[in-house]
Amino acid sequence: MSAVKFVFVTGGVSSSLGKGIISASLAKLLQARGYRVTIQKLDPYINVDPGTLNPYEHGECYVTNDGAETDLDLGHYERFLNVPTSQANNVTTGRIYQTVINKEREGAYLGKTVQVIPHITDEIKRRIKLLGETDEYDIVITEIGGTVGDIESLPFVESVRQLIWEMGNNCCVIHLTLLPYLNVTGELKTKPTQHSVKTMLEYGVQPDILVCRSEKHIGSDLKRKIALFCNVNVNAVIEAVDASSIYEVPLHMLKEQLDKVVLNKLKLPYKQEPELEAWKDFLGRLKHPVSEVNIALIGKYIELKDAYKSIAEAFIHAGVANECKVNLDWIHSEKINEENVAERLRKASGILVAPGFGDRGIEGKISAIRYARENKIPFLGICLGMQCAVVEFARNVLGLKDAHSSEMNKDTKNPVIDLMQGQKNISAKGGTMRLGEYPCTLAKGSKVAQAYGKTKISERHRHRYEFNNKYLKKFEDAGMSATGIYPNENLVEIVEVKNHPWFVGVQFHPEYKSTVENPHPLFVRFVKAASEYQKG
Ligand code: GLN
Repeated sequence: MSAVKFVFVTGGVSSSLGKGIISASLAKLLQARGYRVTIQKLDPYINVDPGTLNPYEHGECYVTNDGAETDLDLGHYERFLNVPTSQANNVTTGRIYQTVINKEREGAYLGKTVQVIPHITDEIKRRIKLLGETDEYDIVITEIGGTVGDIESLPFVESVRQLIWEMGNNCCVIHLTLLPYLNVTGELKTKPTQHSVKTMLEYGVQPDILVCRSEKHIGSDLKRKIALFCNVNVNAVIEAVDASSIYEVPLHMLKEQLDKVVLNKLKLPYKQEPELEAWKDFLGRLKHPVSEVNIALIGKYIELKDAYKSIAEAFIHAGVANECKVNLDWIHSEKINEENVAERLRKASGILVAPGFGDRGIEGKISAIRYARENKIPFLGICLGMQCAVVEFARNVLGLKDAHSSEMNKDTKNPVIDLMQGQKNISAKGGTMRLGEYPCTLAKGSKVAQAYGKTKISERHRHRYEFNNKYLKKFEDAGMSATGIYPNENLVEIVEVKNHPWFVGVQFHPEYKSTVENPHPLFVRFVKAASEYQKG
């Protein structure tokens, strides 16, 4: 096999331009041409990983099979490519420094002054090259978080400069910028892009390709102007106009021939025309749904939709699988109570209670679950949502009025959700939860076994608390059964309510595994149940 090729994606002018989606779209096109591709995200912040970040800060924390707590862009990579990512796909400045400082303490640099260059940049380069050494990929796309010009991202850009110097034609740099549209004059402006490329040049990196985000089409004159001032080929100025769905972006990039420009620069053959039939079919169904269904999504970070990114995307995948448009009603759990719940959830044909930590909004979640259970509205509870369903059932069916999770009330006499044995002596916060993939055995004949079409599954976790088995018999006798068990430790992973069309709570996070190619069976079945409920 020839050398692994590296594509670097940097961002200029503004944050939030969608580097993750552009990277994932390029990867999709290269994959569709027959290349084995992976994407890596380098984040310039000092946290070792985003696991300890409040979702308001950085959106959802995405969990990989190997239990890494990572940036939400990795979710896009998996949803687009249908290939799992791992810890190696997300590295922060904090992790880089931690490694270097640990090595310094071990004496690895004995006698030397440890510096940003070369020690930090060497560690960054090592992490970038690591994915290329696995023999699993032909092309590694590395997305550099932040905006060029930020103090924080400097060591990353410097590492890119060094790698280009070392590897030449095996590398290519894509710079994503913004062409702002000025209403008054009615034109797209290129100056911020020119300045951002100048900043890259100051750091010694000449971008090969410019992907220009804009609200309007960029005419060929403008492309020529950008090419001239930024020192790139005209065909390497790629237009990225706003798309109505992120899943359209690969097709926009195909039309702009981003894949071919990249392959030319890397001196790689085009191989076949991109095989995108399934993708186009997905898009066709997405744009032309046959029906609609209203589902309430209840959580406490509703103001920031990125906090529930994977759940929202899983609903898009499941909607397409059911040929129906899922209208999500985002409801703040703090705004629901016993008095207003019926009115607030009147239009919902399905109710999802989201994951989370801490007791803010918890009673609202419990009220919503009671409403779903009593009115036989399809329900899916994820992680904390499942735990709330257990608490609700204990209080209102078993009559244990003070039942709670010991996360919310340490002194409850009925801790139906309790700290896991292995968590009892853990006080450190980073990376210490039950994380990553665990196997689960499903009860034959259960709703979940029906949904999956099998009884052995494996799903990703991120929690410290679990169902308290001391209460299991009481629950089973009263009609809430454990239909999914982690056999090694006999942990309850799934609960279902009998005599209900579809009431499922899962301790794991099915949303992380839903992709365009493989919509998650639990979401697909939940949306189906909600559609049936809506049709009466
Ligand atoms: N806070 C709960 C726990 O730690 C649930 C976590 C979650 O919803 N991801 O067990």
